[in-house]
Amino acid sequence: MFNLSKRFIVSLMGQSYFIECPKCDYSSSEITMGVGFLFGNIDDLLHGLKGEDKKTVQFLHSRKTIHHHYSRGYSLYQCPECHSLENKCHLDLYNSEGELLFSTKSYCDPCQKNRDYMPEDLEKETIPNLCCPKCHHHQLSLSLGALWD
Ligand SMILES: [Zn+2]
Ligand SMILES: [Zn+2]
Repeated sequence: MFNLSKRFIVSLMGQSYFIECPKCDYSSSEITMGVGFLFGNIDDLLHGLKGEDKKTVQFLHSRKTIHHHYSRGYSLYQCPECHSLENKCHLDLYNSEGELLFSTKSYCDPCQKNRDYMPEDLEKETIPNLCCPKCHHHQLSLSLGALWD
């Protein structure tokens, strides 16, 4: 039974990768993606959050206002202005009326803009539309890191 698609395996396991630019010497730090089964409930999700996001979610959680949640897990975001990257845990929280209480944003302080979510194309092992934070070259190469379990 080795016929499972890579997408399926990655969605279960989570994976990390590095981004490298063929035109300049840019090389990213390790980027985590995927949901993993770490993210079954809010307590687990809190481990993936940092700073203000974590405080906000802890507060909503303690008030018991969170009715359901949706998470893509770790996601990559890129600023449309300066092309800086951020790798953070995505999370949407809803109350019992179905209203959005919280949604992860990646905010670029120097540009005062929200970074765009950059979905990975796992079949082609690339991230469409991603460009180099340093020289702005398109078509960066991804090298996959270890699966984490
Ligand atoms: Zn920016
Ligand atoms: Zn570059």
